[in-house]
Amino acid sequence: MEKMTRRDMLGRSSLLVASLGGGLPLVSTIDELGGTNRKLKVVVAGAHPDDPESGCGGTIALYSDRGHEVVILYLTRGEAGIQGTSTQEAAAIRTAECQKACAILKARPAYAGQIDGNTEVNRSRYDNFRKILGAEHPDVVFTHWPIDTHRDHRAASLLVYDAWLESGRKFALYYFEVDQGEQTQVFHPTHYVNISLTESRKRAACFAHASQQPETTFYPLHEMMNRFRGMECGVGLAEGFVRHYQNHETGVPEP
Ligand SMILES: [Zn+2]
Repeated sequence: MEKMTRRDMLGRSSLLVASLGGGLPLVSTIDELGGTNRKLKVVVAGAHPDDPESGCGGTIALYSDRGHEVVILYLTRGEAGIQGTSTQEAAAIRTAECQKACAILKARPAYAGQIDGNTEVNRSRYDNFRKILGAEHPDVVFTHWPIDTHRDHRAASLLVYDAWLESGRKFALYYFEVDQGEQTQVFHPTHYVNISLTESRKRAACFAHASQQPETTFYPLHEMMNRFRGMECGVGLAEGFVRHYQNHETGVPEP
């Protein structure tokens, strides 16, 4: 299991481990980052407000707690996500919810300018997205798994994948899952992150998206996913990811 592999590596190789307040270890890989312990730039690209939070909110909180910089890049502002509300009004409400969620996770929100329910994947969209993502100079990028029932999720995944290819596979690429079984399909994690200590902030960040009624719509399922992925890797609560292996690895936070 990857978790053990990385822990073994921690013992053997050039990884710095220090202690932060609250007992969380500070772990930064140095072997693939030029031999220095440096701050990582992490970008989590999701289609809608609440996707990055539900797919990897616990992991985002771990990265930011450990001093890494996290940007949540929303492809749309959830324009179609509030029934009976104009697209403009919904975008304004949901942008405010994004800001609240990002504050909880100590991440910076950014927006890629597409429209919920009407995302496009074509040459100019690829170019535009590549520029937006490239401007962040990410070391690690998380995005939707490409086999997902929601068109916008698939669009986000393809846009990130193309930007990754065009960059020369420059950053570590991980896929996250949302609404396992209902949205994300045939997803089998290669990596797990123990979010037992940060699940409460993941939950709060998801609940910041109050217009989506997370308590009845998506969080109960994510609670089960957190437990299920935790069982798979032998911890209380976890998030699972698939890493594209054609790049050098920039690790996910260790417990
Ligand atoms: Zn979504």
